[in-house]
Amino acid sequence: MSITAQSVWNNCLLFIKDNIQPQAYKTWFEPIVAVKLADNALSIQVPSKFFYEWLEEHYVKLLKVSLTKELGDTAKLVYIIKMENTYGNKQPFTEKIPSSNRSAVKSQDVDVPLNNKNRELRNPFIIPGIRNVKIESQLNPNYNFDNFLEGDSNRLARSAGLAVSAKPGGTSFNPLLIFGGVGLGKTHLAHAIGVDIKDKYPEKTVLYISAEKFTQQYIDSVKKNNRNDFIHFYQLIDVLVIDDVQFLSGKSGTQDVFFHIFNHLHQNGKQVILTSDKAPVDMQDIEQRLLSRFKWGLSAELQTPDFETRVSILKNKLYRDGVEMPEDIINYVAKNIKSNIRELEGAIISLIAQSSFNKKEVNIELAKQVVEKFVKNTKREVSIDYIQKIVSDYFQMDVDTLQSKTRKRHIVQARQLAMFFAKKLTKASLASIGSQIGKRDHATVLHACKTVDNLSATDKQFKKYVEDLTKKLTV
Ligand code: ADP
Ligand code: MG
Repeated sequence: MSITAQSVWNNCLLFIKDNIQPQAYKTWFEPIVAVKLADNALSIQVPSKFFYEWLEEHYVKLLKVSLTKELGDTAKLVYIIKMENTYGNKQPFTEKIPSSNRSAVKSQDVDVPLNNKNRELRNPFIIPGIRNVKIESQLNPNYNFDNFLEGDSNRLARSAGLAVSAKPGGTSFNPLLIFGGVGLGKTHLAHAIGVDIKDKYPEKTVLYISAEKFTQQYIDSVKKNNRNDFIHFYQLIDVLVIDDVQFLSGKSGTQDVFFHIFNHLHQNGKQVILTSDKAPVDMQDIEQRLLSRFKWGLSAELQTPDFETRVSILKNKLYRDGVEMPEDIINYVAKNIKSNIRELEGAIISLIAQSSFNKKEVNIELAKQVVEKFVKNTKREVSIDYIQKIVSDYFQMDVDTLQSKTRKRHIVQARQLAMFFAKKLTKASLASIGSQIGKRDHATVLHACKTVDNLSATDKQFKKYVEDLTKKLTV
């Protein structure tokens, strides 16, 4: 029988599976594809450079043992890093710019103007001794890794965070961009990384700041005529965490200054950690050069947690608060609040409060009332952006395509569905919906709503689209 890459790898997998946790196996080994066996070297394809580094760091021995068992002492393992753009796939994270391109991008784009000026000025802010000035990190110690529970939805972002905090500035995850919807733990994870770094490297200057505050500081500095001080302050930082960078959308002055700060930090091996409510591809009104920087490192997504993770987050919260709660109540809450961890916590806190104020037993009835209140609130929060994202994801296109001028039928339908749901689920006017979905007028939106009504009455497949999307948008 001839041995193939596939058969060798299958045997390796059997061995590996026996030796590690099922979850780790699923995360790190199932995505691997065996591609070639030549000269006693097995080539395996991994989804990203991050994957490769993770395997090397944690599983290299296991890989070696298993492969030697199959191919003998001269066995070799070759990694092939898949370089496709994997956005839109169900993959929990993506790395878009392979590191081999990174240096190329970097050397091209070294930005001249500001740096030159700085050199001349030699910097009014770095007065001798400034390095001894303590910069308050603004980190919240209550947001740490210990209480950031792991689940499928956050595993890769969390692991990447741990890798960064073990070696700030020393991994290829620079910047590390954590993205995901509201209340899924971006701020928590960003703090956790900072807190962990501060713990491991007390001498490093870590700073957490929201993009909003950063913008405010910048505007103030311009008013007070000390923009350079502002820049130099930020250039002193070893680990810069900027939360909610989508806030920089449309603010070109702040983007410009951030661009220069980012370059300086990056070139000096300093770590940058960013969070955003959107993937870089979906960020609007952020300059291209900045977006391309965001993609240098790793973009890791926080997805909505599955049921088990929601239950363990709740249990952990209750445990920390010293509260006991019947299992069926916990399950009920976790089952019904799906898309937002902040609301999940809110519901359980409200439940605890209600029961202790009113001296009522926490029973399913009470849980129902509380959950209903929260679920209603969630509904009100659906935004047109969110609708466009969900609809485009559903049809596996990006938001730009959905908004484009094309007349291709499936794209037109997706756009009409987005308009229909925007009308149905938000209070926005037809005109405002039109302007947000590809700059159309109110008549187009009205027409879209009618078309969707008609089609869902006559076309089975289309009806299914509407039902699926309704489910996705109104959980
Ligand atoms: P975001 O910044 O994405 O809107 P936050 O970081 O503010 O979300 O998280 C919302 C709430 O959910 C916080 O109280 C946070 O502690 C909690 N939370 C999020 N993810 C987790 C997790 N994996 N484990 C425990 N708590 C979490
Ligand atoms: Mg946040």
